[in-house]
Amino acid sequence: MTQIPGGFAALGLHPNVLAATTAVGYEEPSPIQEQAIPVILAGHDMIGQAQTGTGKTAAFALPILSKIDPSKREPQALILAPTRELALQVATAFETYSKQMPGLSVVAVYGGAPMGPQLAAIRKGAQVIVATPGRLVDHLSRNGQVLSTIRFLVLDEADEMLKLGFMDDLEVIFEAMPAERQSVLFSATLPASIRGIAEKHLRTPKHIKIANKTQTVEAIQQAFLMVHADQKVSAVARLLEVEDFDALIAFVRTKQATLDLAAALEIKGYKVAALNGDIAQNQRERVIDSLKDGRLDIVVATDVAARGLDVPRITHVLNVDMPYDPESYVHRIGRTGRAGREGRALLLVTPRERRMLQSVERVTGQKITEIRLPDAKQVLDARIKKLTNSLAPLVADAEGSHGELLDRLIADIGCSPRALAAALLRKATNGQALTLAAVEREQPLVPTASAPRERSERSSTDSTDRRPPRAPVAVTEGRARCRTALGTRDGIAAKNLLGAILNEGGLTREAIGRIQIREAFSLVELPEEGLDRLLAKLKDTRVAGKALKLRRYRED
Ligand code: ADP
Ligand code: MG
Repeated sequence: MTQIPGGFAALGLHPNVLAATTAVGYEEPSPIQEQAIPVILAGHDMIGQAQTGTGKTAAFALPILSKIDPSKREPQALILAPTRELALQVATAFETYSKQMPGLSVVAVYGGAPMGPQLAAIRKGAQVIVATPGRLVDHLSRNGQVLSTIRFLVLDEADEMLKLGFMDDLEVIFEAMPAERQSVLFSATLPASIRGIAEKHLRTPKHIKIANKTQTVEAIQQAFLMVHADQKVSAVARLLEVEDFDALIAFVRTKQATLDLAAALEIKGYKVAALNGDIAQNQRERVIDSLKDGRLDIVVATDVAARGLDVPRITHVLNVDMPYDPESYVHRIGRTGRAGREGRALLLVTPRERRMLQSVERVTGQKITEIRLPDAKQVLDARIKKLTNSLAPLVADAEGSHGELLDRLIADIGCSPRALAAALLRKATNGQALTLAAVEREQPLVPTASAPRERSERSSTDSTDRRPPRAPVAVTEGRARCRTALGTRDGIAAKNLLGAILNEGGLTREAIGRIQIREAFSLVELPEEGLDRLLAKLKDTRVAGKALKLRRYRED
């Protein structure tokens, strides 16, 4: 792996640390790294403000490692992080970046694990302590001198630490450290409480701010879909059919909603798990590991449960419920597009939430594109594409392994290869709808932005699609059901369709049966008698400026 000139090499890092950046394959510093590294190396206190996923860990870890003396076996750097998960992540990063520094060791200090081994590692001379504030205070109460040799302090995700109520613990920790030290604070936001801490405990800090519109956000395609609250689950199911995702994280607001949506998607055959505040720490780690290695593809999470989650496989963030503020939106979508990779963020918006959509656009400085719910044709195409992709690799050698069996089955059953192949397909696809008509029948009606309906909205907690599946309605005696590809999204209403057929077909109103207008198609019952002639008559009819192309509709 080569590094571009003027990249990390120009920042003044210690050669062993620089070597580690090459080893992990970083090509160039991210904006926050480019700005923060020289400032920290120069010994200044600093406040760094940047969103999730901008590479803040390396921004402080690389310069601090460059300044640590590995031959001194005593705590030199203290990194405070809000959660165990984040502390472990930061500790792992320090280990990675110090691979070429013999004698350097890192200890992670967090609750929920025995204190003994953590104490032992500190006694053995770990130079870097990565800790959650609560557990560190426990250590201090046993040994008030643990932090007496600290020269570098980092507060990582300071705003989150305060939100989690660590203010008092932080004060205890500040007191236990030498005043003569370098302090660095990283935070996505800078509320007054954080500025207060900086004023009190940092010495003329340099302020580095990476504007909201970071490379991370730019690498993410954002789209939204208008939907009614009680139709979110079915909208999600349909979106997932056509979105080409590797791993996806779906955000909802409540614990119950994580369970409901995960259950609904599991029924559809996805490898999915729920992540919420009730889920035990070790189970949570199992879920994250499974998402990392592909045993899971979807995690349905609340904001709290997803904090700090960093899984490079995540290509999609699906905001099923709106975040409470634009900042959390930016935080959420930072789960994808990690380290400059392309990501996609989807947002479901209910009619009442339009205003929130606008403020998200203002904060991110980006327009979010409106998308429509995929229609039956798109769903069908996606299904066929998946089927093709799953079968194509088998074609190369399946004949060798199964060719003889095939011949025998054809002979035994006495059918054509095509008939047998079709039977196998039916079996392999397990009843999945794979014709346009069949897909259309299973798609529930979802209104689009252009045709919002007034109705009461419920929270997504109870948004599971409880409406019974639409049973095929029997056609009225003597009538045939006909179909057009025009629907509400083409601006069609029943009266337009009726008008056109009455005018051009020369029928009476009584001759026409039920009319069903759907998003992407419509159905109308017409007299069986003389139907072919009628359809020929209507051949060139246009409705709302579009060709009607009415056809006899066959189930399947
Ligand atoms: P933050 O703390 O700002 O949310 P992280 O420090 O967790 O971000 O970094 C996010 C991801 O980007 C990590 O997977 C990290 O390995 C990767 N990363 C950081 N810096 C670089 C870089 N210069 N080049 C490539 N990847 C990087
Ligand atoms: Mg971080």
